[in-house]
Amino acid sequence: MAGIELPHPVTGELFGSPVPPGTGWPGDPATPATPVARTARQVERLAALAGSVAELDAAVSVCRACPRLVHWRETVATEGKRASFADQPYWGRPGPGFGDRKPVILVVGLAPAANGTNRTGRMFTGDRSGDWIYAALHRAGYASEPTSTHSGDGQSLTGVRIVAAVRCAPPGNKPDPTERHTCGLWLDRDLALAAPGLRSLLALGAIAWDATLASARRLGWAVPRPRPRFTHGAQASLITPADRPIRLLGSYHVSQQNTFTGRLTQTMLDEVLARL
Ligand code: SF4
Repeated sequence: MAGIELPHPVTGELFGSPVPPGTGWPGDPATPATPVARTARQVERLAALAGSVAELDAAVSVCRACPRLVHWRETVATEGKRASFADQPYWGRPGPGFGDRKPVILVVGLAPAANGTNRTGRMFTGDRSGDWIYAALHRAGYASEPTSTHSGDGQSLTGVRIVAAVRCAPPGNKPDPTERHTCGLWLDRDLALAAPGLRSLLALGAIAWDATLASARRLGWAVPRPRPRFTHGAQASLITPADRPIRLLGSYHVSQQNTFTGRLTQTMLDEVLARL
């Protein structure tokens, strides 16, 4: 149930929480007719059927294949809002990919934040992690704006698309192995669709690194052995079945835990982005 309607912070249009598909939320890729995956098998089937990034984003954004995460994202969106956002509607759905639909760089994050993407409907948007990654992408010339505060704010990316290992906000930011595997099936399709024009992948954190390598292997890409280990600045060369080399780079995740403590600095992030 979408419940009480509240105004979108940018457009002022009224929305319930979670936001019903195709009701005018800025950037909503789905319509009421978009097919809904309710099991891992259905994720696999619908991902394979997605012939374009637009179709993939639409299918991802209405997915209900992980019961624990569906319950969590919708509970946060209804009863669990942060007090400072209580006057806003919450997206309450999986975060679709955001950015250039023909990317040369694919950024893979961990998972949406409960009061970030789960509220705004855009990857890394509306929280401190987003402040970091969009500012860095802006400094590197990929983002039109240095901030990403909400869907509909005018932010756009050129050459870069942002996705995640898991597309629903998980309790404690910890998706379980089954959820990671199921959502990895969407990531497989993202990699496959991007591959013909892709130059680099940026994995933010160890979970994204592992998810990206697992997807690459499932797609039949050549992955170095032994398996490349994640660390900040790690680099590996992957080869697609079309013999296309793709550079995989790792960066510490832009989480507050890392940025507040100085484990990840702006300079460290900028240096990795410069190698993409
Ligand atoms: S985590 Fe991924 S697979 Fe699971 S419900 Fe969300 S979008 Fe679907």
